[in-house]
Amino acid sequence: MKIFVINCGSSSLKYQLINMENEEVEAKGLVERIGIEGSVLKHQPKNGDKVVIEADMPTHKEALKNVIDALMHEKYGVIKDMKEINAVGHRVVHAGEKFACSVVITEEVINALKECIDLAPLHNPPNIIGIEACQQLMPGVPMVGVFDTAFHQTMPKEAYIYALPYELYEKYGVRRYGFHGTSHKYVSQRAAAMLGKNIEDLKIVTCHLGNGASVAAVKHGKSIDTSMGFTPLEGLAMGTRCGDLDPAIVKFVAEKEGLDLNGVDKLLNKQSGVLGVSGVSSDFRDIEEAAEKGNERAELALKIFAYRVRKYIGAYAAAMGGIDAIVFTAGLGENSDVMRASICEGLEFLGVEVDPAKNNVRGKEVDISKDGSKVRVLLIPTNEELMIARDTKELVERL
Ligand code: AMP
Repeated sequence: MKIFVINCGSSSLKYQLINMENEEVEAKGLVERIGIEGSVLKHQPKNGDKVVIEADMPTHKEALKNVIDALMHEKYGVIKDMKEINAVGHRVVHAGEKFACSVVITEEVINALKECIDLAPLHNPPNIIGIEACQQLMPGVPMVGVFDTAFHQTMPKEAYIYALPYELYEKYGVRRYGFHGTSHKYVSQRAAAMLGKNIEDLKIVTCHLGNGASVAAVKHGKSIDTSMGFTPLEGLAMGTRCGDLDPAIVKFVAEKEGLDLNGVDKLLNKQSGVLGVSGVSSDFRDIEEAAEKGNERAELALKIFAYRVRKYIGAYAAAMGGIDAIVFTAGLGENSDVMRASICEGLEFLGVEVDPAKNNVRGKEVDISKDGSKVRVLLIPTNEELMIARDTKELVERL
């Protein structure tokens, strides 16, 4: 079975074609600048060189058409006929409270996702456009929606209700949803496999640390809390997002800086986080380099980032009544031994002991804790596409 995994952004489309017999990626790629001058498709077949295709792609439909043509191309394609694609898995950001797991896409599902547009005005519309483009170009091929929010639907009410007038939840769905769910689910399952234990017996804190970053408390295989909330702005300090904040700052800064609500929203989402503190960059590589050269604000930004992750790990150990493993994943979590060590420093009282030699590694599944460490510290590269493909396969096989 071959599954086509698609992730549509407002002007981009990422894809992978995965052969589920061996879970290998047959081809992957990215279309950028959809609807903007200079649209380009970068296609990478499994056994071949990367191909760059420049073509007019005013909408996601043309982008998808170009991707399908590339997949079937006689030189750099990987399939002969579109019929070889057995199903499509779509990454969808927000399913609100409507779906707690992946679902086969029907008219009702699309309508339900349209009802969630208010909750994710930037992300859900392109996701829906991608689904509709696929329906037009690949009629009859079963499709599955895999939602970033779904894994966190198991959070108990005390974790997801804000201390706001309850009517705001009832009227508008103002509550904590959490994101990166596909990643937290994937790495927690891999952690159980690595430890040779049943996930139902484990309490795991998963740290997805990329440009967007979140921590989740995964108790017995279920997310019981996570650091992102109503939107991805809550929680950790991120590349450009502020994370947790006294909400009174919004009014204070708006008045002082003469900003309207959109201006403050932009400041909190795009100009804050480690970029805002360091003034250097939102990319942790640049910040680490600047810190090494003695830039104090860069050093402070890294300390703030690590401190918050550490606080969340402590909080989630309390929320779960203990902790068996900590998992690091995503760009920073997979690559920065310095950050992993910095986060775990001071957590020895919980039984967390990182082995500096084992920690000197990047991008592969490995246990980086000392032999005697009570809590296992694991590095697990995330693979959201594979998780989407697995869910898609499972649902489509039941049709
Ligand atoms: P992601 O959002 O998961 O793609 O992660 C992207 C972020 O990971 C980048 O902004 C970098 O800050 C960080 N990153 C990637 N590679 C490294 C590295 N070698 N060292 C430190 N940070 C890294």
